[in-house]
Amino acid sequence: MADWQTLSDRINHVAPSATLAVDSKAKAMKAAGIDVIGFGAGEPNFPTPAPIVAAAAAAVQDPKNYRYTPTAGLPELRQAIADKTLRDSGYEVDPSQVIVTNGGKQAVYESFQILLNEGDEVIIPTPYWTSYPEAVKLAGGVPVTVFAGADRNFEPSIEAIEAARTEHTKAIIVNTPNNPTGAVWKPETVKAIAQWAIEHHVWVISDEIYEHLNYDGAKTTYIGAAVPEVRSQLLVLNGVAKTYAMPGWRVGWMIAPVDVAKAASKLQGHMTSNVNNISQRAAIEAVSGSLDAVYEMRAAFDKRRQTIVAALNDIEGVNCPTPTGAFYAFADVTALLNKPIGTNKTTFANTSELAAALLDEGHVAAVPGEAFGAPGYLRFSYALADDDLVEGMRRMKRWIED
Ligand code: PLP
Repeated sequence: MADWQTLSDRINHVAPSATLAVDSKAKAMKAAGIDVIGFGAGEPNFPTPAPIVAAAAAAVQDPKNYRYTPTAGLPELRQAIADKTLRDSGYEVDPSQVIVTNGGKQAVYESFQILLNEGDEVIIPTPYWTSYPEAVKLAGGVPVTVFAGADRNFEPSIEAIEAARTEHTKAIIVNTPNNPTGAVWKPETVKAIAQWAIEHHVWVISDEIYEHLNYDGAKTTYIGAAVPEVRSQLLVLNGVAKTYAMPGWRVGWMIAPVDVAKAASKLQGHMTSNVNNISQRAAIEAVSGSLDAVYEMRAAFDKRRQTIVAALNDIEGVNCPTPTGAFYAFADVTALLNKPIGTNKTTFANTSELAAALLDEGHVAAVPGEAFGAPGYLRFSYALADDDLVEGMRRMKRWIED
């Protein structure tokens, strides 16, 4: 390849989204007629609740919604998000602090574009959501991982966070309920991170996209409510995808101090202009409507959670702690490595290879821990139909044990 044909270092240093890669391979196999069970994507299988769809259907008939909206989002939606924050998180924000984004993902991307200079470091509690380090790198930043295993409910200790701090530390990510582990962090952990961030002048980026998906009495601790003093250095990220079964509608948001929010709006002005107008109308209904449909979906997820955790732990060599949030089970499968398993009695050195064979031979899609900075684990999303879940687990057990 000639020099001029080489793409930028920036893009060449970014890894593709592993979760989307597993999901698209599973979908391609399905399209080719192979019956694959997909535990890969974090995508609720429920339809979007009817009142939200009705709001969109009404909006699409109204020509006023065929126009651009303000870059920062429809004023009614920014207000509704501020109201929802008071309702759910228990503290007041001004609508001028709210920026509507194309999914939570754009809010993640923008956070680092706005905050980081070349070489600035971001502390990422690990296992982490696969897009965080890549979004940091795309902004010229350096991801610094701090690992916590199942023995700590995957919650980082302040000692480990402090040991990772340098003069270049600019921000830390908090994600509870957590993807990929399903852990809901204890209030003490969240509070300690806020206090540490205040003491050391570090921005906090709190990704609260799974806020309503809690089980076994676990509760989401909102860092901005737990330690109000952190709000002047806090970016809250959220979206409708997971809570309201709206992954394809692409609406998320950022709540930040006004100057940060203005910067996000400036960036969007050159990047995406605004989020789809109809989707914003639907999102108004989602965030201001009743949470009853959400609680119904949560009850269904809860049943699946119990089924999948029992099924995983019933497989030889698989150890799955019980998650209390989101819709992921994160299973330790280190006991399956380096010994012959699967249809062809192959020996796998790592979970990437194991997951690839499980998909090719066993027709079960799961995401390898490598995608989350946690080799040795497999992530299973249980946001799929009950029957598929049971069949997928049966296949996996047979593939491993027979
Ligand atoms: N944050 C976390 C932790 C996620 O798991 C996801 C989706 O998988 C997102 C943000 C982004 O979601 P979306 O862009 O679909 O709103």
